[in-house]
Amino acid sequence: MKQRINLRLGLIALIAIVTTALGIILVSYNMFQNQVRRDLKQNARLLMETEVFQRAYNTGSSWDGQALEHLSSGTLRITWIDNDGTVLFDNDTNVAGLSNHLDRPEIRDALENGEGESTRRSNTMNMNTFYYALMLDNGTVLRVSTQANTIMSVLMKSLPVIISIAVIILLGCILIGHFLTRLLMRPITDMVEHLDDTTYEPAYKELRPFADKIRSQHEHVLAAAKSRQDFTANVSHELKTPITAISGYAELIENRLLDPDSEAHIAGQIRHNADRLLSLVTDIIQLSELDHRELPRRFESLDLYRIAGICLEDNKALAEPRGIKLSLSGISAGITADQALIREMIDNLLQNAIRYNKDGGQVYVRVTIEDGHPVIAVSDTGIGISAEHQDRVFERFYRVDKSRSRETGGTGLGLAIVKHIADIHNAEITLESEIGRGTTITVRF
Ligand code: ADP
Repeated sequence: MKQRINLRLGLIALIAIVTTALGIILVSYNMFQNQVRRDLKQNARLLMETEVFQRAYNTGSSWDGQALEHLSSGTLRITWIDNDGTVLFDNDTNVAGLSNHLDRPEIRDALENGEGESTRRSNTMNMNTFYYALMLDNGTVLRVSTQANTIMSVLMKSLPVIISIAVIILLGCILIGHFLTRLLMRPITDMVEHLDDTTYEPAYKELRPFADKIRSQHEHVLAAAKSRQDFTANVSHELKTPITAISGYAELIENRLLDPDSEAHIAGQIRHNADRLLSLVTDIIQLSELDHRELPRRFESLDLYRIAGICLEDNKALAEPRGIKLSLSGISAGITADQALIREMIDNLLQNAIRYNKDGGQVYVRVTIEDGHPVIAVSDTGIGISAEHQDRVFERFYRVDKSRSRETGGTGLGLAIVKHIADIHNAEITLESEIGRGTTITVRF
């Protein structure tokens, strides 16, 4: 971040320096050029008033070179040209070597319009020559010229100054950037340090959504860790009970403390506890598989009604001994789902509806389509769930009546599995129940 801020600040400063320098050079060079032109014009007119010029002009004699040299102070070139372009006098060069000047634009303009000016690049690359020509009364032309730096040479000359300023400003930027990032970063590091403190308000209001998000994720991670811990503790506790029982019965057998009449009873207890262990382990494995969201699921098109029918058949054996009747109604409803998971879900709901039912009760399964959504509802005429437990029965190992759940072979994980499977299929679960009258659990796809 520091590096980025420094880089950006430096870049901005560099752009600012370069554009300002170029702008200033351009404007002042333009002003300078205009000044040179004005001076030339003035010089020409002043020259005409001088005695040296008047004498030569009036008498037609040659000019007094030395006096002119003095006047031009070595920087002004003075040329006198006849109206046919022949050079009559030049204070810089011998006229014999000079060609006809009619092709010079400033001379042509002067002959046509009375005055003319032009600028030409000198032989030496960095100089421009400015010319001003004025036609005199007798038709001859007086031309003055001077050399001045080109914009390029001005630029080259100012380059060391520009570079020095740029370096100084860049160093300043690095320094400012350093302090600025420290200043900017302080509230952020402060916020990170106060992540656990819910009363802490970040100094920048722009950081609040970020702080809230991080905080809620942080809380989520802590909650997830706690729930994993609770789950592990619960699993250990749940596994311990049947194992302790089996171990106790085995000890009785080992020490031949059994009276032969109770042998069958003890064997039955061992079997019962082993079955319990098995269903616990099966449910735990099932839950842990459901937890792996990345596991590939075999989604296919299914008829919810047909699957419900199969589940009903499978659970008849559980219902019959208690005189509980299972019935299915409704219509075909297509869903895209994992068949094994859907069967597991309906089985769990049916087993609960039977387990927590009254002897001779009823279980109704109804498959419908509501607003285009396939829906399955499992109702029973059982003991019901009181309002305070209704929200919690979907938690792992939560049981309203522990002993009844255990007696009937429950693990406390059935509805947690149902909820998980519904989530995987983006289905919504609702529970309606009344104590003593029964329960309806509805899954809406
Ligand atoms: P369990 O294996 O104990 O049945 P579940 O997770 O399936 O565990 O259910 C949690 C608890 O919710 C049960 O122990 C029971 O108290 C209550 N419950 C679930 N289904 C019903 C129902 N149809 N009628 C009454 N109570 C129910």
